[in-house]
Amino acid sequence: MHNDNQHQASNSWDTPPINWTTTGFFIITNLAVLTIVPWYGLNHGYSAAAWIMAALFWAMNGVGITAGYHRLWSHRTYKAHKALRWLLLIIGSMALQNSVLIWASRHRYHHRHTDDNERDPYSAKRGVWFSHMGWMVRDWPSSELDFSNIKDLLDDPMLQWQHRHYWKIVWATNLGLPLLAGIVFGDILGMLLLAGLARLVLNHHTTFFINSLAHFVGKQPYSDATTARDSTLMASITWGEGYHNFHHSFQNDYRNGVRWWHIDVGKWFINVCSWLGLAYDLKRVPSFKIRRAQLQMLFKKAEASIETSPLAQRWREHLEAEYEAFSNTVRDWQQLQRQRMNAAGHQLRDRFADSVLHTRLQELEYALRQQRKRLHLLLQETAIQQRASLG
Ligand SMILES: [Zn+2]
Ligand SMILES: [Zn+2]
Repeated sequence: MHNDNQHQASNSWDTPPINWTTTGFFIITNLAVLTIVPWYGLNHGYSAAAWIMAALFWAMNGVGITAGYHRLWSHRTYKAHKALRWLLLIIGSMALQNSVLIWASRHRYHHRHTDDNERDPYSAKRGVWFSHMGWMVRDWPSSELDFSNIKDLLDDPMLQWQHRHYWKIVWATNLGLPLLAGIVFGDILGMLLLAGLARLVLNHHTTFFINSLAHFVGKQPYSDATTARDSTLMASITWGEGYHNFHHSFQNDYRNGVRWWHIDVGKWFINVCSWLGLAYDLKRVPSFKIRRAQLQMLFKKAEASIETSPLAQRWREHLEAEYEAFSNTVRDWQQLQRQRMNAAGHQLRDRFADSVLHTRLQELEYALRQQRKRLHLLLQETAIQQRASLG
């Protein structure tokens, strides 16, 4: 006798079987961290060395994933000296999140098909749990490996080596390093539990937050085309990756927190490496483009807010005039950029003309900054009027 379900045409919404290797691993490690780790701490206590090594390994894994797996290999936002690439490869492997090839391929699909439930491996549209860990506990078709989007990485001998010897590196770093530290500091079990196990699980969740919470918590200052959000709180526990709305808007930029005061450990690490000569060709999106995106979002918000304003007509005229000024500024900027590109192509560059162009570009950027302030004021005033009309 056949079950009726077996005769149904298969579609992508069929629930695939559970991947017991991954699921079992997650259950055991997470349960152990919730039970054995605190039990041992209460009964035996952890040495200061175990705490320090756990924090150090946690930071190393975070940087390996953020500055290595993510910004160097998946997005190629900068170039790195061979010594730095080796370091990032090893400390990234220790985070136990698969080889760079697998990680980068899935991540590029995440960017290309963000929120597409069929093609984004960790689509946030399928909920917080799915984007956090649910996508790994079953063999979903959206996670099927297809390396056609990482042709630029496949030939890299270093990445091939890591892919081949992945599990040896994982064991050596996850068991070997804490064991070594335990022998050196005389606290083997404490070190294995805290710097080995608890550190690994903590790093897993803080990385997984970028796929889950960074698509649910925070604001959308640059674009509402995807669910990705910016949040300082999220950034402070994800080594800077919580400025996820910026990242999904400008994935080729080596920064995620674009302002100097943004908490972005990944960016700071790359900056320090660049001062040391270990990182170079750092890619930055022109600040004019960033401001343009912010203004586009502000116009959207302003339009929505005047809809319900009692003085809608007056505000609309005001807003239309602002939008026209904005479009003119953007057009002028694009024209000047083209002129600059053409000039750069000529061998005899006119330095005077070049500096005139540069000044004009800066003026245009200033115009956008001023306009942003005006739009903020406009939003505030419409809000005050709304409150007054309601009261
Ligand atoms: Zn990314
Ligand atoms: Zn994302």
